[in-house]
Amino acid sequence: MKIAVFSSKSYDKESFESHNNGVQFKFYEANLNLDTVKLAAGFDGICAFVNDHLDADVLEKLVANGIKMVALRCAGFNNVDLAAADRLGLKIYRVPAYSPQAVAEHALALILTLNRKTHKAFNRVREGNFSLERLSGFDIYNKTVGVVGTGKIGGIFAKMMKGIGCEVIAYDAYPNDELKKAGIEYVSFEKLLNKSDIISLHCPLTPETNHLINAKSFAQMNDGVMLINTSRGALIDTKDAIEALKSGRLGYLGIDVYEQEEQLFFRDLSESIIADDMITRLISFPNVLITAHQGFFTNEALSQIAVTTIKNINDFAAGVENNNEVVLQN
Ligand code: NAD
Repeated sequence: MKIAVFSSKSYDKESFESHNNGVQFKFYEANLNLDTVKLAAGFDGICAFVNDHLDADVLEKLVANGIKMVALRCAGFNNVDLAAADRLGLKIYRVPAYSPQAVAEHALALILTLNRKTHKAFNRVREGNFSLERLSGFDIYNKTVGVVGTGKIGGIFAKMMKGIGCEVIAYDAYPNDELKKAGIEYVSFEKLLNKSDIISLHCPLTPETNHLINAKSFAQMNDGVMLINTSRGALIDTKDAIEALKSGRLGYLGIDVYEQEEQLFFRDLSESIIADDMITRLISFPNVLITAHQGFFTNEALSQIAVTTIKNINDFAAGVENNNEVVLQN
């Protein structure tokens, strides 16, 4: 199989090459979109990531270029037009679970950093400033943590927070019995918003969850609440989050994903003019912590992504059934 890898970085190349098993990869740094789709000509399949465009127009061009399969090297598939893929007979595969622990641990890192301000302490001490002024935080112990979506990542995160000694409440249409046994209470979305000191989002981005957190949901939250999003940017209406930060309703915001991240994340723009006024406004708040979609970024996760993606490609080539195929649900 000849596979064109889009949006690739040095670490993707390294991990794919060290786990390769007969696949011919060509690594492109370019993001997949209508302008770059021609790079896929002459390949059997493509490998894509979270911000690649897999809308109907791009999928049609891929198929016209001879592409038969798409191997997503991520769990989420919100960027793929599944109806168009189905119509075109294009097979889509993903990596459903590589290291849910990695993302859950990153959510915890955002909480601890925002709360205890270790990022600010680090900079202060390096400059010889040993003052504690404005560095105080709060005990996480005994606080109420609301988990939205208790699948693989949310479930691990909920248990972690329980381990720290928090009251953990959750919202999911499909409650998990193991979590209930561990003392995690399922509540309505409204109650979760209303009761939580910390809210962490772990549900997928779908048409129903787009802007799940908006002005109406901020109005139901406690003053000074901490909101963490390691799932997908568009779960939060960024404009409404900025208003909630300005009013003080939102006390802390920790995000690893951002609604308009496609033009920013995974690039070094330190010498560029950033045209996105919302991210620059977010960066200006002292109580906002942004990381650039690195929740998945551990050695274990990179290895697992490479191993599963290569297996998905080889299974497709061999015509072997594979549970990682993303199938259109009617
Ligand atoms: P999962 O499918 O195991 O779990 C998702 C859960 O969300 C399910 O239990 C589902 O019932 C629930 N859900 C669906 N709609 C909901 C709604 N409206 N309200 C509440 N719950 C709802 O997925 P996962 O592996 O735990 O991943 C969760 C998300 O994390 C992914 O969709 C992906 O967007 C994101 N993710 C981010 C990174 C990162 O690097 N930051 C890495 C991997 C995954």
